[in-house]
Amino acid sequence: MRALTLIADRKLELAEVSSPAPPSADEVQVRIKAVALNHLDLWSYRGMAFAKRKTPVVVGVEAAGEIAGVGSAAADVKAGDRVVMYGAITCGTCRACKEGRDNLCESVAGIMGFHIDGFARDLLNLPARLVIPVPEGVSWRDAACAPIGFATVQHMLFDNAKLAPGESVLVHAGGSGIGTAAILMSKAIGCTVITTVGDDAKAAKARALGADHVINYNTDRFEGVVRKITAKKGVDVVFEHVGAQTFNGSLLCLKRGGRLVTCGSTSGPSTTINLMQLFQQQYRIIGSFGASMRNIRESLAKMAAGLLPVIDTEVPLPDFERGLARLESRQVFGKIVISF
Ligand SMILES: [Zn+2]
Repeated sequence: MRALTLIADRKLELAEVSSPAPPSADEVQVRIKAVALNHLDLWSYRGMAFAKRKTPVVVGVEAAGEIAGVGSAAADVKAGDRVVMYGAITCGTCRACKEGRDNLCESVAGIMGFHIDGFARDLLNLPARLVIPVPEGVSWRDAACAPIGFATVQHMLFDNAKLAPGESVLVHAGGSGIGTAAILMSKAIGCTVITTVGDDAKAAKARALGADHVINYNTDRFEGVVRKITAKKGVDVVFEHVGAQTFNGSLLCLKRGGRLVTCGSTSGPSTTINLMQLFQQQYRIIGSFGASMRNIRESLAKMAAGLLPVIDTEVPLPDFERGLARLESRQVFGKIVISF
């Protein structure tokens, strides 16, 4: 079978390796059908000074596949079932895991494709409790975007920011994988969506997705435009993942008592904030990372109901690096999916 391994910073190797042993009692064996790229793949590929990771490591942080083998104690699945996998090997026994909040696991073994071997290989074994069934009618390509792409957004907007119908939301980088998902999920509950993009072609695509207002951040200061659009009131929620470059502007876009939820810092990890502004305006700043098992089921249910991820490109496994280059160049609108 094939496995795509990061052997050093910016160095991938696609090699033939031996297939895994039959799954142990509480495991399943999954045949991978599609892997979706995330910014996390880029952090891993480039190397990241402040996050520990070892090479060699099999890449691929989110995926969909078919059950190819079932351990003797794995009762809920059978061969041929279509599944997605949770993106980290969590313990399953701590309080957070028992409550279904796996992203707060107290003894997580690591994030797949980052700290430990990921999904860019034909077959793998993993604990049966970490697979989630894919509803009928959802394609491999779309399902592969559920565990991280969609579920992260589901967790940010609804569990953390408590976005409610009729509210206003500013979605940063509306052309990114999570940005496109945030626009679609917010519009689906009747919110007013303002989004930022880097060029006019993306602006047209964001409007076509349903964004009510689109700001080209290369030609306009987004905080000024948001204040104008909202008649100086600001928005209820800001969906952040850009980080240093936008964070203070994002706070200026919030309504009094507004919520900023963030899951990333692609433009840099550090910034300073005005504490007087924070408490006087009664802002809530919420960090969000990953998702719960429930969020993945919710994401798949949305897909089954017709809310589908925006796909930028599909590339075959040997072209994984080409997909990463496209992601890194920021030319992407939506998700890049690796087909098997
Ligand atoms: Zn745990």
